[in-house]
Amino acid sequence: MGVEPIRLAIDIEEVVDAFEEASALQHYFIDTQKSEILFVNEAIGEDCKKQLEEMDDERYLMVPPRRPSDAFIVMELFVYDKIPDETVADQFTEALGKTQPFQNFKALLQSYPDLREQWFAYHRQQLRNEALNWLCANNITLEDQGFLPPITIQELTQRDIDRLDEEVRDYQPVRCMDCGNETGFIRRLFLCSVSPENQLIEQKTQKHMKERFVITHFGWWTGGQSTLLTASRCPQCHSERIIWDY
Ligand SMILES: [Zn+2]
Repeated sequence: MGVEPIRLAIDIEEVVDAFEEASALQHYFIDTQKSEILFVNEAIGEDCKKQLEEMDDERYLMVPPRRPSDAFIVMELFVYDKIPDETVADQFTEALGKTQPFQNFKALLQSYPDLREQWFAYHRQQLRNEALNWLCANNITLEDQGFLPPITIQELTQRDIDRLDEEVRDYQPVRCMDCGNETGFIRRLFLCSVSPENQLIEQKTQKHMKERFVITHFGWWTGGQSTLLTASRCPQCHSERIIWDY
């Protein structure tokens, strides 16, 4: 910690494109000095060996090549997250279980135009999240963060909480991780406009919670339609590290 992030003037969508296209033969590099994305194609390049040697410098960061298994996982997640109809979901799961799962999956999408549209948006968002996590892991921050959804956090009153689903209402702080105390916790719930889909959103939300509510440790509740943040403090030792349960 404490190392200043590298700020780059690159459009997130360009990074996402590179993430999608990078393979064992098509290499993408981020030039961290010039804020540029460079492309080296081994399939056609004559002097790409030399180019690749030049890129072997900490100034250049190689975008990880995309593996078939990465794409497969996104398809599985899509079926799980976005297809509530069990009969339809089963068809897709079956398509993914055959040989040539990619072709089968895409062929099946042709029969469901609505899902097909959703798939493109979903796939892109997954790639964007992966790209953002990768940038975070490499201590890179993008100058233009206009792509981030606005983050608003609002503390719920007891009246708001009474109106929530039973499942959430039963979720309570039960034990302090630091002193073992099991009583006297005050539960705080916050309605949050974003879900923790990538590390950048997580970081921003942490900052928000700290600055506005002086809360360092909190949990995410992402069941149902809305995202909630859960926080509590131990009345004995004032720790915020609390185990929650139903
Ligand atoms: Zn405690």
